[in-house]
Amino acid sequence: MRTVDELVAEGVQGRRVFLRADLNVPLDDSTGTPVITDDGRIRASLPTLQALREAGARVVVAAHLGRPKGEPDPRYSLAPVAARLSELLGVDVPLATDTAGSGAQAAVAALEDGDVCLLENVRFEAAETSKDDDARGALADRFAALADLYVDDAFGAVHRKHASVYDVATRLPHAAGRLVATELDVLTRLTEDPQRPYVVVLGGSKVSDKLAVIEAMLPKVDRLLVGGGMCFTFLAAQGHGVGGSLLEQDQVETCRRLLAEAGDKIVLPVDVVCAEALVADAQVTVTGVDAIPDGLKGLDVGPRTVELFGDQLAGARTVFWNGPMGVFELAPFTAGTRGVATAVAAVDGLSVVGGGDSAAAVRQLGLPEDNYGHISTGGGASLEFLEGRELPGLAVLSDRAA
Ligand code: ADP
Ligand code: MG
Repeated sequence: MRTVDELVAEGVQGRRVFLRADLNVPLDDSTGTPVITDDGRIRASLPTLQALREAGARVVVAAHLGRPKGEPDPRYSLAPVAARLSELLGVDVPLATDTAGSGAQAAVAALEDGDVCLLENVRFEAAETSKDDDARGALADRFAALADLYVDDAFGAVHRKHASVYDVATRLPHAAGRLVATELDVLTRLTEDPQRPYVVVLGGSKVSDKLAVIEAMLPKVDRLLVGGGMCFTFLAAQGHGVGGSLLEQDQVETCRRLLAEAGDKIVLPVDVVCAEALVADAQVTVTGVDAIPDGLKGLDVGPRTVELFGDQLAGARTVFWNGPMGVFELAPFTAGTRGVATAVAAVDGLSVVGGGDSAAAVRQLGLPEDNYGHISTGGGASLEFLEGRELPGLAVLSDRAA
């Protein structure tokens, strides 16, 4: 796979580079003006951007934000991202008035060497995410007409067969950005001969999202610690009542089978923090997992679980953590995620945090990012990589002939 640094060494002065970045940041809309609550992904995209600017390229950045319905929607405009990117780069980053139309053409035509512009949200075009190859191809043609070269640095989107991730790469000489290269390097260290003990911690909300990765990783890991909303389907599979906690009834059988196959590899919580409702001033009760009251929801792992998971992590040499242990967004339910995040940070070896919400949790809880070996920007992408699946956005970059 060619990298952006090889591209720069070959010379990109004056050349237009279509740079797919992952700028899908969380926004708080409650005040009427969207405010970026975590700019981690924007900052992670800077090294590639800077390398291209310094080499005199004309950089056309494309990105998605949220899930608009395939048509322009001001709520999902990249305007706040353009503003933050301008601040971080210290140069004006104009936002095109559209994604691939006359606005985009005008923004690109105005670029001088070393300049950057941002196209409007690629998901304003229904074709971006279309299952129809021709529809995506037609949009990719319009993208390709805007540039001479393609660089993909949107690690968080490489598992998507989308026009700006996959199809455009088949139309232009292409390379991987620095973020994609770093992510690949770290994830490869997790799959090829990791130092042992190798402990994986999984949390988050939906067990159905993560069963495939559990299945793929079980043979490779020494321990798999399960917390977050997804632990309740496993607890139900063990015969526990889970009250009003998240439960995916249709996955109980699969969880039961995985528990049987895993022996003592899967470690489940022993206590949970329960409350009646998901509110910031909730009255909480801590119970053992065998005594979750009917009317309550389990919204965080309890203190004995934090201790148990901490003991498991203490001796590990390789750790991958994806998914918060509880609803860390609300004060009464942050302790489990904080405890596990702290234990992961203390690991003597390679510690990797994957997942948008997990990375946001690390920053929101004020834990130093430097204490982790790597904080991945891509949740779904890193999980699919660890499952061993082929990721379209990476496969297309590996194809040097195109
Ligand atoms: P990531 O983005 O790191 O991959 P996920 O998207 O899988 O993580 O899950 C994150 C979400 O899971 C958070 O918004 C958090 O509030 C939620 N969550 C964690 N524990 C629970 C729980 N016990 N009940 C409901 N939601 C939970
Ligand atoms: Mg998430």
